[in-house]
Amino acid sequence: MNPSECLRGIGVSPGIAIGEACVMDNHRSRLPLYHLSSEQVDKEIERLNAAIAAAKAELESIRKLAAPRLGESHLYILDVGILLLGDDMLIGEAQNQIQSNRTNAEWAIQAAIDHFTRIFEGIDDPYLRDRSLDIAHAGERILRHLVMEEGREDENTSTEPAIIVAHDLTPADVAALSAERMMGLVTELGGHTSHTAILAKALGIPAVAGAESATRRISTGDRVILDAHAGAVILDPSPEELAKYYAALHDQPSVPPSEDSEASGPVSTRDGTRIHVGANIEYDRELDVLPVMGFDGVGLYRSEHLYFNRSVMPDEEDHYGHYRRLAEFAYPEPAVVRTMDMGGDRPPPAVAKLVSEESNPALGLRATRFSLRHKELFKLQLRGILRAAVHGNLKIMYPMISGLDEIHTVKGVLNEAKAELREEGQLFAEPEEGVLIETPAAAVCADLLAREMDFLSVGSNDLTQYTLAVDRTNKEVMDLFEPFHPAMLRIYRNLVQAAASAGKPITVCGELASEPESALILIGLGFRSLSMTMSRIPEVKRAIRGKTIAELEKFAFTLLDCKTGSGVKALLNSAQSGLRRNPAPLQTSA
Ligand code: PEP
Ligand code: MG
Repeated sequence: MNPSECLRGIGVSPGIAIGEACVMDNHRSRLPLYHLSSEQVDKEIERLNAAIAAAKAELESIRKLAAPRLGESHLYILDVGILLLGDDMLIGEAQNQIQSNRTNAEWAIQAAIDHFTRIFEGIDDPYLRDRSLDIAHAGERILRHLVMEEGREDENTSTEPAIIVAHDLTPADVAALSAERMMGLVTELGGHTSHTAILAKALGIPAVAGAESATRRISTGDRVILDAHAGAVILDPSPEELAKYYAALHDQPSVPPSEDSEASGPVSTRDGTRIHVGANIEYDRELDVLPVMGFDGVGLYRSEHLYFNRSVMPDEEDHYGHYRRLAEFAYPEPAVVRTMDMGGDRPPPAVAKLVSEESNPALGLRATRFSLRHKELFKLQLRGILRAAVHGNLKIMYPMISGLDEIHTVKGVLNEAKAELREEGQLFAEPEEGVLIETPAAAVCADLLAREMDFLSVGSNDLTQYTLAVDRTNKEVMDLFEPFHPAMLRIYRNLVQAAASAGKPITVCGELASEPESALILIGLGFRSLSMTMSRIPEVKRAIRGKTIAELEKFAFTLLDCKTGSGVKALLNSAQSGLRRNPAPLQTSA
């Protein structure tokens, strides 16, 4: 028997999935372009019209199905699409393209979308500008029908659970897919700390990123095994492989949080040092399991999710509603709202038009830089947080800060928001403010920041990316993304000392805190507060309970003594089993 074909990638969210693949197509990257002879033009227009009719019928049936859930007042969102599919503007432009340029219908529609997007983007009125998205969505729907003709099923609208395979998925794409539909995720791009990977982890969905040519080698309906532990996707598995993986699937721990005693209760090391374990929240739906997870507050609420899946910006009431719910769920524990971290990896549609093409988005108008460029949007968010803070123990945290000047400007906007609320007679509270240490500049100036802020938190994903100059989403350089590179170890140690000198608390909320072995090293380096993906809390707590501070410090200091990254890696490899095994002592000999 021939061995099955296996695609290699990086396991970015643990677990195993066995099932049928569903290949999410990025139409644009695979749009066929061909020129028509003059005799073919009429037939191509007929083809276009048939796709338009099918798209319209599809939207009408979605409208009918969605009516009970959406309610009449929201159905206009779908009506806009239906109207556009009957309107001459987009369709006329596409027909014109076929006739005058003799291009096939797919390219004609894409050219029409691009044409109107450019026109709408030049309009000052934000409402009208937003309509370009409606046009794009209507066009996309037609495109899907053109690409899907010849009897192929619409791969993306199946409701059966499947292993989703895509070139890339934005965080918004993941948010749009229901968790029940996703047995696993395979992407050609991305890495451990990409936001898509973080969302997959939050949803408890196994994921492999960086699986080159997955969309070409896998077709919808193919049976595949996704082994995120091994970073592998097995195509057309043999009966033996299936049997082996079904057995492993059976052994996979799937204890619901409420039944996992390891998850609940405060956690201390074996010798009684209390470690604060907070939860990172990416979606509001995670809040429902929060009370049973046993957590010391929400250490990171990634507020960007409020911008996903919508073409218009959230207003102040949206912000207020979400943060109030968060504050009430976490109470009496604190919940840290990280203000929007926009830009960087592809921003959601509502925001995309505010971010111009940047040759290096990670170093561009991202996070607090974006917020300060769009102060009115930022102020809306701050007003929402200030008002919601009345309902619990909310804290505000500013991402991607590089120095005190930014902090002073941010505080200026916050003060304006407070003054406005005061004047309007609105109730608000004054939350503690913290800074996310994500840039080398912030790490070096941590002493200065700590003096002016109420708390510090370490965003180890970005801090590693920016310190080591390694794109966190680029699998080509993933081997250089060394979370415990000597430079990182020194930075972490200095951060602990800077916070201690200022008498301010410090937490690590990057992915590093979610991995038991790494969490133990962070504790050894002096951190006493970690915040992590919720699904990892039980495992990390279990690891913490098995070690003493003396053991962890000894190991961390041995790591700090290493002069090279390879030395650190060798030490980590030899110690890994010791870190996992509880309560065996750590091996600290280099
Ligand atoms: C980080 O960078 O570590 C962090 C917590 O923020 P994000 O992963 O959302 O960029
Ligand atoms: Mg970050």
